[in-house]
Amino acid sequence: MSVTLSVLVQTPAHSGVGGPLTYLSEEALPIGTLVRVPLGQRELLGIVWDAGHGLPAQGETALRLRPIAGVLHPLPALNPAWQALIRFTARYYQRSEGEVALAALPPSLRELSPEQLTRRLKRKAAAPKSKNTAEPLAPQPVKAVDRIPVPPNGLALTAEQEAVLHQMATQKGPFLLFGSTGSGKTEVYMQAVQRLLQAEPSAQALVMVPEINLTPQLEQRFRERFEPWLGAGCVVAMHSAMTPAQRLNSWLAAHNGQARMVLGTRMAVLASMPHLRLIVVDEEHDPSYKQQEGARYSARDLAVYRGQLEGAQVVMGSATPSLESWHHSRAASPDKPAGRYVRLHMPSRMGQSALPLVRRVDMNRQPRRTVFSGVLLDAMRERIGLGQQILVLLNRRGYAPVLHCPSCHWKSQCPHCSAFQVFHKLNRTLRCHHCSHTTAVPRACPECGDTDVRAMGRGTEQLEELLATQLEGVRRPDGAAPRIARIDADSTRAKGALENQLAQVHAGEVDVLVGTQMIAKGHDFRRVSLVAALDTDGALFSSDFRAPERLFSLLMQAAGRAGRDAQWSQQAGHACEMWIQTHYPQHPLFDALKRHDYPAFAEEQLQEREQAGMPPFSFQALLRAEARTQDAAQSFLKAVSLAAAELPGADRLSLYPPVPLGIQRVAQVERAQVLVESASRTALQQFLTAWQPLLRSARTQHRAVLRWAIDVDPLVI
Ligand code: ADP
Ligand code: ZN
Ligand code: ZN
Repeated sequence: MSVTLSVLVQTPAHSGVGGPLTYLSEEALPIGTLVRVPLGQRELLGIVWDAGHGLPAQGETALRLRPIAGVLHPLPALNPAWQALIRFTARYYQRSEGEVALAALPPSLRELSPEQLTRRLKRKAAAPKSKNTAEPLAPQPVKAVDRIPVPPNGLALTAEQEAVLHQMATQKGPFLLFGSTGSGKTEVYMQAVQRLLQAEPSAQALVMVPEINLTPQLEQRFRERFEPWLGAGCVVAMHSAMTPAQRLNSWLAAHNGQARMVLGTRMAVLASMPHLRLIVVDEEHDPSYKQQEGARYSARDLAVYRGQLEGAQVVMGSATPSLESWHHSRAASPDKPAGRYVRLHMPSRMGQSALPLVRRVDMNRQPRRTVFSGVLLDAMRERIGLGQQILVLLNRRGYAPVLHCPSCHWKSQCPHCSAFQVFHKLNRTLRCHHCSHTTAVPRACPECGDTDVRAMGRGTEQLEELLATQLEGVRRPDGAAPRIARIDADSTRAKGALENQLAQVHAGEVDVLVGTQMIAKGHDFRRVSLVAALDTDGALFSSDFRAPERLFSLLMQAAGRAGRDAQWSQQAGHACEMWIQTHYPQHPLFDALKRHDYPAFAEEQLQEREQAGMPPFSFQALLRAEARTQDAAQSFLKAVSLAAAELPGADRLSLYPPVPLGIQRVAQVERAQVLVESASRTALQQFLTAWQPLLRSARTQHRAVLRWAIDVDPLVI
């Protein structure tokens, strides 16, 4: 006798098939079971989803139903909490459950047949324990005898760390750990994990970091701490730079409960962890936690939701929290002193290392077109002479020179995008950073034939060269000329390049490191005593209302790179410094920075946002459309905006007129968007859910529209 099952599969985004499909099965299977099912000519991975009512299939429809192709028997079913997380994510971010659920599974799991999976698991079980791979086995009870019953020796905690851990032990959270760079937040995370595992040996912890680059450091610290206690395989990593096989192994180890700690990037928030009790979101303010394609979820926000759902404690840490999180940790009102988040504070840096002195250079008093002011150069020369290191931070993203012709004003416009191709001196190419279109540098201007085409604007490469000239004659203590290195997206494209470059900095082989925000994040450069930020002004008056928040956070992060080694900087007898070159030295942002006063900056920004009715005091979503012409994209958006007036929630929100995106055309595709804003999250959610079917049907009338997508809580508007 067969039963019917509802099975979730990965359906194309706009197929209209959002929900599960129905299949026949010889046996009733629990919800969450992984199965293989036929779809058309293909066979896909699926998840048993709705209660397959257990009824025998009857009548005509039963004839058309197809049986499932197999069951991934060795794997335990995905548990109800995970299912609820997927349901919520799909609903909140306006995507189908199938898309979200299947994207949350490791890609290679989608390809394995039940037989292949069984063979693989057997092989793994038979293989001797290797140091770097977790053993995916069928679910096993945790045997205490397997482990050395001595917890690791952590550091002796500071009073601030103790106080924070005490609050975590006695309150529910979620917690916002507001701690300076180098205040020992990572140590707090490790201690929290340790205390959890001592109390509950089978518990699991999820620790997220924003960047793949930061996972190896973190992984090493966790392994060194926990492997001697819990054995190899207790810590697994999860991020997109891993091979499919590694990802599968990590996922299986987390899913069957073997891995106690999962360290990963945003994707890890959807990992199946049946015994999840603690979630850490480090550098919670970082924009990388927001997924920028498919289901555009915020891993930070989902972490908070997931914690609530599964009864897991959530800690978000940052020296410069997002204004959203900061707002949630403020007193709701004088009579309600606790915010939604419990704020924990660790103001002191380890080892008495002071935060650097912030110095502003008024660029209005410098000759026009000055790149490095004289005072800054003098300070740099002195530091090099003392054998200290310098970071030069470039704020502008896509800091990039464009090729141009001075006679006819031709510029290296990308033929496919409304953007310029960027000049790369090293391999003499022009490259578009949006569509990757690459061409050789022309020998002469393609318009007028002038051979004097040149790079316009400063790129990191040019800056590096300029600096080399301006530091000519300066000597290190050993008499050698200073060495300048550059770290940016280009110099680190090759695998391992970033690690190599960072190792050189650590080894003291580099005196001046020039780079974009990549160099400001997380890396522990002990000998850096001077940080210089060159072009910060754009962010002060940007149309992007989040630009000041990002700038402040970047500068605080960068400042945190200096003076991490108190001994070093005091020995040299020079306080660490952060130099800011600006045309607006009086700007309140720099005042707050000078005092290292994030709370003051946050209060000022939140007041502005409240007055302007911007997030976190309102909720936003974007509807984006892509078409061959801007007109087609906009007329679709106009039509669906008009038709939306009667939808539930529509009376409590604003729909703005369609506008082209900042970069309007990419790879020959025109892009436009509509902003939806409401003071009520519920109204916005209600509206978006009701809007979806309307959007799907409108697209059949607007055939020129290639794609549309909704971005809930967008970070960039
Ligand atoms: P954060 O994550 O806040 O930037 P870390 O946890 O990386 O700070 O700590 C900064 C440095 O201080 C690290 O080298 C760490 O080993 C050290 N550290 C952390 N806690 C202590 C402690 N209680 N005693 C001594 N050193 C500590
Ligand atoms: Zn020309
Ligand atoms: Zn392009």
